[in-house]
Amino acid sequence: MSRETDVVVVGGGPAGVEAALAAAAQGLRVTVLDEAPQAGGQVYRAPPHAFGGTIQRDADPIGVALRQRLAASSVVTCFEHAVWSVSPGFRVDALAPDGPASWTARAVVVATGAQERVVPFPGWTRPGVIGLAGTTIMLKSQGMLPGERTLVAGQGPLLLAVAVGILKAGGQVAGVVDLASPADWAREWRALASRPRLTARGAGWRARLLRAGVPFLYRHAVQAVEEVPGGLRVLLTRVDRHGAPTKKVAREYLVDALAVGNGLTASTDITRLLRAAHHYDALRGGWVPTLDAEFRSSLPGLYVAGDAAGLAGADAAVADGILTGLTVARDLGAMTDTAYRGAIGSLRRRARRARSFGTAMARLMAIRPAHVAAIPAETIVCRCEDVTRAEIDAARSEGAQTANQVKAWTRCGMGPCQGRICGDIVGALLAAGEAPREPVGYFTGRTPLRPLPLNLLAGDVEYTSLKLPPPAPL
Ligand SMILES: Cc1cc2nc3c(=O)[nH]c(=O)nc-3n(C[C@H](O)[C@H](O)[C@H](O)COP(=O)(O)OP(=O)(O)OC[C@H]3O[C@@H](n4cnc5c(N)ncnc54)[C@H](O)[C@@H]3O)c2cc1C
Repeated sequence: MSRETDVVVVGGGPAGVEAALAAAAQGLRVTVLDEAPQAGGQVYRAPPHAFGGTIQRDADPIGVALRQRLAASSVVTCFEHAVWSVSPGFRVDALAPDGPASWTARAVVVATGAQERVVPFPGWTRPGVIGLAGTTIMLKSQGMLPGERTLVAGQGPLLLAVAVGILKAGGQVAGVVDLASPADWAREWRALASRPRLTARGAGWRARLLRAGVPFLYRHAVQAVEEVPGGLRVLLTRVDRHGAPTKKVAREYLVDALAVGNGLTASTDITRLLRAAHHYDALRGGWVPTLDAEFRSSLPGLYVAGDAAGLAGADAAVADGILTGLTVARDLGAMTDTAYRGAIGSLRRRARRARSFGTAMARLMAIRPAHVAAIPAETIVCRCEDVTRAEIDAARSEGAQTANQVKAWTRCGMGPCQGRICGDIVGALLAAGEAPREPVGYFTGRTPLRPLPLNLLAGDVEYTSLKLPPPAPL
């Protein structure tokens, strides 16, 4: 049986929590669903309750305050609830520890954040190779190191965050390998200057790494990883400013883990499932839902906040989350237009400032088409279904022109992750370089959005009692 509420918020990160608190403060019944055990999202991820001790004390104070405010509010929270379907109208289905659960709601706020992107290279699916964002989860929620000696590689601000996190947790960082150049970072000076606190934190991290003797290599990328006795051999190549490798192995590292990531992509599985309008914005994490200035999607009653609307970082997620919650309250008649206008003025300015820093960081993480174009033919692109670049190229030369056609040809994107990891790379390969992504499109959203044991949905079915249709005539 479905539970009834005014608003379901999917995602208990900073965007979702702020949207929920803002809407609930106007008297709406709000339920937050998140597959994580506690609120905080990726950036303020809470350690598991059972851990206690040091890791519990190390939890980010902003995240602790967020959880306290949520607990003190009227918002109903359901953690360890993985949303696997949202149908128009709205019905939201989740898988909870004790089985399936569903809600009907007048409005849905999608605040599902972002997900990791890795530009594939030979060996990226080997044990010991871990996503940069995935490494932050290991460090924050499990207090676990990826290895004793880790090479950190890829793009964007997570490089420094992960490298420092490893040092703090007692690990060794063999080096930080950045696809960008110091000039690429310097180009973002205006945005960096606008957020002195965050810039100072980044500078502090860099200083700490340098003091620990960690070498920085700019304009380099991972060319391949091989398993060797005693660990992994990571081969690095120099790249030009477009991300194209110069083909020479520039350096080798022997490590036991490689943390590697090429930015994030917006989590659009719910908005794609509901067939809301999307557009491609390489600088904000690829395909993003098309929203009006007040966070409404093209589907009435469906709103999107935070990184799920396009990468902009945690501070922007807070401001945009509040604004989205207020829009929902006004649209559902819980707030007058005058009260709404009064509430949003300064918030909008705060959101703009936060977004400018976040989008500068997103630019550093943006996919570089020449980097993708250089993926070798034998490299696996879809790791769920083991589909290689050569198979994608073959489908393309046989006539597949869109992401969905490549999916039908090769099974690429049909595995348990539903194309969340490979989707952007497949699109880049099909678009071949700087060409627009619109003709290539994106994988159509499909349920279940999360892997689901079907027996939980079917319940105790007696197969002999099922009425079978008569066989089709031959
Ligand atoms: C893996 C990862 C690690 C990151 N680590 C950092 C970091 O260390 N520092 C940093 O500054 N930024 C980090 N980021 C970026 C950071 O997440 C964002 O800038 C910021 O947290 C955005 O806030 P948000 O509320 O939009 O989304 P998030 O904080 O990502 O919150 C989204 C929430 O939605 C939930 N969710 C998603 N899909 C479903 C579903 N189907 N069912 C139920 N729940 C769902 C998730 O569990 C999550 O709690 C990371 C991003 C990722 C993907």
